Amino acid sequence: MANAIEAEVKKFMQDVEERNPGETEFHQAVYEVAKSIMPFVEDNRKYKDAKILQRMTEPDRIIIFRVNWVDDHGNIRVNRGYRVQFNNAIGPYKGGIRYHPTVSLSILKFLGFEQVFKNSLTTLPMGGAKGGANFDPKGKSDMEVMRFCQAFMTELFRHIGKDCDVPAGDIGVGAREISYLFGQYKRIANEFTGVLTGKGLAFGGSLIRTEATGYGCVYFAEEMLNSRGDSLKGKVCVVSGSGNVAQYAVEKALDLGAKVITLSDSSGFIYDPEGIDREKLEYVKELKNVRRGRIREYAEHFGCEYHEGQRPWHVPCQVALPCATQNEIEGSDAKALLDNGCFVVSEGANMPTTIEGMDLFLKNKILYGPGKAANAGGVAVSGLEMTQNSMRLSWTREELDNKLRDIMKKIHKKCVTYGNKGDFVNYVDGANVAGFIKVADAMLAYGVV
Ligand code: NDP
Repeated sequence: MANAIEAEVKKFMQDVEERNPGETEFHQAVYEVAKSIMPFVEDNRKYKDAKILQRMTEPDRIIIFRVNWVDDHGNIRVNRGYRVQFNNAIGPYKGGIRYHPTVSLSILKFLGFEQVFKNSLTTLPMGGAKGGANFDPKGKSDMEVMRFCQAFMTELFRHIGKDCDVPAGDIGVGAREISYLFGQYKRIANEFTGVLTGKGLAFGGSLIRTEATGYGCVYFAEEMLNSRGDSLKGKVCVVSGSGNVAQYAVEKALDLGAKVITLSDSSGFIYDPEGIDREKLEYVKELKNVRRGRIREYAEHFGCEYHEGQRPWHVPCQVALPCATQNEIEGSDAKALLDNGCFVVSEGANMPTTIEGMDLFLKNKILYGPGKAANAGGVAVSGLEMTQNSMRLSWTREELDNKLRDIMKKIHKKCVTYGNKGDFVNYVDGANVAGFIKVADAMLAYGVV
């Protein structure tokens, strides 16, 4: 960064940190965007004069509420629920709901902020939001999860709507939780509308939505490789996570001829040098989605290595697909990946790489697709679910997969247009600038609102 730009970023970040004390994940997400956008804003006075970047870092509104529910033993439990409605300049608020004990305002603000740029990149008319609760679904019975979802929706329902704010799933919120949330919304709002996405197929859901984030992340990796005359065929991939995004990233990587050798959860990772084939993947889906077990059981079942308390980034590979959570690739992990020959990173998770790790990937000019571009396939198909709900029709699996692939190609193209540095593509700058322009232009058109 040139000195003057660096000084502007520093000044800007001081203000962000003062306004949002202690929110380190949010600061990190804003810093990453500010570094990319500042040179562009300095060259385009209209955005600077209208203070667009400052306005974009302040959410439209934040709703925080108490969630009371009763566990299976008759104990009253109290959790905190949130919805951060970040920006609706280009469409209704849209973004997932996360249930995890670590959920905090900082995490939801980082996710909501990223979502604004991601949704803009998809080319669909969606604003950005994120919500959730510090509720841990692990170890809870189905009935406890149902009661929690009902209590959560009993407050949330008055703040959302098909033309206002359309939540979806995220960590800890999958098909089961979306069904409970939708059932409660339908009951208390007395209307059947597309107010949530990721719904079951019997009640307005879309084909390919479950698969979309993982598939999209792999399509993005393939696009990056294609741009260098290469492909995923025969490549060795390391994947983290074993939830929704990881499972379908593995599935699509197999379709495209890659070999996947790791998966993880919050307790550790498995290393299967023979590769996770389709049969093993079906075992993982059953283990994680039905039995809700631990990835350690995979190693016991198939007789491979399990590394307790570790992440898979020290395993040699050419392609890394982080699909678990934020900040799971630190500087030392990024260095290990690079030292072992990894040259493609496509982020299924949101902000899985720390600033230090990201700087290393960029310095080494590898094919590095940041989450807001690489994992945008999920929200893109959510957007298509909203379209199908409004039109009261359902597209086929093939139509939707083609649309998803096409959207990922378009996102890749936009990143190349705005991130081309001559000898390499900086996909971080590309995604940030391309996502920014559409939202910023809409905000400029509205005047000061
Ligand atoms: P799931 O809840 O289905 O799976 C999450 C996976 O990540 C699990 O394997 C979980 O392990 C692991 N994990 C969660 N927290 C941690 C942690 N603190 N440390 C290590 N591992 C952890 O979530 P998704 O697959 O839906 O989401 C994964 C990532 O993808 C998130 O970053 C999410 O924001 C992002 N994303 C998801 C989209 C979607 O459509 N679902 C869309 C775009 C992005 P364990 O079971 O032990 O908790």
